Amino acid sequence: MFDLKGKVAIVTGGNGGIGLGMARGLAGAGARVVVAARNKEKSSAAVRELQALGAGALAVSVDVTDEKSVSALVSETVERCDRLDILVNNAGINIRKQAHDLSLEEWRTVLDTNLTSAFLCSRSAYPHMKRAGGGKIINVGSMLSIFGAAFAPAYGASKGGIVQLTKSLATAWARDNIQVNAVLPGWVDTDLTRQARKELQGLNERVLAGTPAGRWGGIDDFAGIAVFMASAASDFLTGAAIPLDGGYSTLL
Ligand code: NAP
Repeated sequence: MFDLKGKVAIVTGGNGGIGLGMARGLAGAGARVVVAARNKEKSSAAVRELQALGAGALAVSVDVTDEKSVSALVSETVERCDRLDILVNNAGINIRKQAHDLSLEEWRTVLDTNLTSAFLCSRSAYPHMKRAGGGKIINVGSMLSIFGAAFAPAYGASKGGIVQLTKSLATAWARDNIQVNAVLPGWVDTDLTRQARKELQGLNERVLAGTPAGRWGGIDDFAGIAVFMASAASDFLTGAAIPLDGGYSTLL
């Protein structure tokens, strides 16, 4: 039910953080993983690590904000791997500023990286998945898909949008046997949050106190849900947005 042998997956931002955690899960279940990000050194290191899991992995450079670059990513994947079964829209950034300090350019950068990217990648993947008789799209949201935060207006808007995009694509493509779901991470120890911990005093203590599980998430906490959402185990799940947060979103 969870076997991904013979499947090909693109993971945007798969060269580190949560994307790498999901890529490890997919590779471990037998999928061939395409690591799609900008930093070539980080991507090569991730590919070496994933290849050691035995499934075969490759890196394709992409800027997910760029329509042509996204098209090239999907074409190159299908050329080199013959198919595309799984797309993980994970690449994301945050610019921590309140709305009155945020420039239009910064707003657009965050929306383009976190939300428009998922639209572009999914749109490019769709014809290949439809032709193959099905596929799986996994979008990465956030606790800010649910809550607001004063310091992250663009990030919150992008992550709220991810949930609605997930539902729209799920509805549109259900009859093509393409399931589209979202995972909403809580506080996870990655480069993104290491930077936040430097910028926001007391964040570590607040996360530990506010997370019922009493710890930060690790990137390997995302391996299992990636396999579930990418495999036959989730064939009747579509349009869902599942928090993976140690219980953070259950507390008010
Ligand atoms: P991270 O370690 O900083 O990883 C972000 C990834 O996105 C990197 O691999 C980066 O690779 C890639 N990326 C950024 N901009 C890109 C672009 N324009 N084109 C291609 N790739 C791009 O952060 P993370 O915490 O793992 O975040 C991954 C996802 O989880 C994001 O969507 C984030 O919003 C979400 N999330 C994280 C947390 C958390 O607590 N960490 C919580 C909720 C949601 P390159 O720099 O090499 O391009």
